[in-house]
Amino acid sequence: MKGRTVNLEATQAKTHFSAELLKWYDVHKRDLPWRRSRNPYYIWISEVMLQQTRVETVIPYFHRFVEQFPTVEALADAPEEQVLKAWEGLGYYSRARNLQAAVREVKESYGGRVPDAKEEISSLKGVGPYTAGAVLSIAYNKPEPAVDGNVMRVLSRYFLLHDDIAKPSTRIGIEKLAVELIPEGRAGDFNQALMELGATVCTPKSPHCLTCPVMEMCAGRLEGVADELPVKTKAKPPRPEARAVAYIEGVGAEAGRVLIRQRPKEGLLARMWELPHVQLPDMLQEEGAAGSDEAAMRFLREKLQDEFGLTVEPIGPMMDAEHTFSHIQWKLRVYRCRFVEFADGQALFAPDESGPPETERNDGGVFCWFGERELKRYALPNVFVKILKQVGKL
Ligand code: SF4
Repeated sequence: MKGRTVNLEATQAKTHFSAELLKWYDVHKRDLPWRRSRNPYYIWISEVMLQQTRVETVIPYFHRFVEQFPTVEALADAPEEQVLKAWEGLGYYSRARNLQAAVREVKESYGGRVPDAKEEISSLKGVGPYTAGAVLSIAYNKPEPAVDGNVMRVLSRYFLLHDDIAKPSTRIGIEKLAVELIPEGRAGDFNQALMELGATVCTPKSPHCLTCPVMEMCAGRLEGVADELPVKTKAKPPRPEARAVAYIEGVGAEAGRVLIRQRPKEGLLARMWELPHVQLPDMLQEEGAAGSDEAAMRFLREKLQDEFGLTVEPIGPMMDAEHTFSHIQWKLRVYRCRFVEFADGQALFAPDESGPPETERNDGGVFCWFGERELKRYALPNVFVKILKQVGKL
């Protein structure tokens, strides 16, 4: 008898959650640009942009991106440089590269129509269970869960779940629960409502329980532990890495330009353009942000010479900057340097109308003199955009 009562309560809690959440969403949903259409390509773009990025930041990027690449074909056929430039500032550039690779496959294998079968969409590059669920439910109204951190937080609190959400098994369990909650015929609205609740009401810190549509049956609130949920083991903090950056202005024919290098074709920030920089050895890192300036400048000069045959004369420090990736934190100190020469046989390009030349080099050894036009045209990691803005080059 007791078991039946518990089951009944659980069923009531689920029914209450779904019904109240949808009612609330119908009245309170935000007017977001990607909600104005059911175009799966637009919804896909918005979901990729929204990963690790706030809605307010994404909106202008979304507008510009769909204006520039309005169709699957337009994005598939665009040069990668152009796509990265449109993404500049959003960070996590592998998202943009994967999106374009996946869209190319949609063009080639699915005639330009974003697939509506779970297996097919999930096989596309960069499309994980969350993105697949979001596109399938929002664009095609398929009853698929779209479980991200927001959703795991809301459901952990409402159903009083103490499982560690950093574990894949917890995510799988929550996905099963989320499927059970989807009301018939309203998968897209329900998933968006759940995301919306997590983003605006059931926030990570100090959830707004008193204005929450499901507060009446929220077990986390009733037990007074909403603030403590979800349980999540902490990821390792990013490892600090001190780096010395060379700011090198051109002279003579290159006056006003800055020496920029292209990163290798694979790995972190692949193929993006940046000021040349080197990682300082541990010994120098321990001495401060960029170690002692004398030693750091000596190291910078020797490393650029050894690795790229680039001879510069560091003059002195200009500024510090930081950028945090998921696993590394760059602590950059920028040094003004005087250009001396490139070793024989080394290429140093000044881009023409068609842009920097294609080369086979894949070691980060492609260097170009960039003027304002090139700096605006090619994609640079955000931290270098900030540095170049500070020195008035952008
Ligand atoms: S009542 Fe509070 S803890 Fe529960 S779902 Fe709503 S905002 Fe989150």
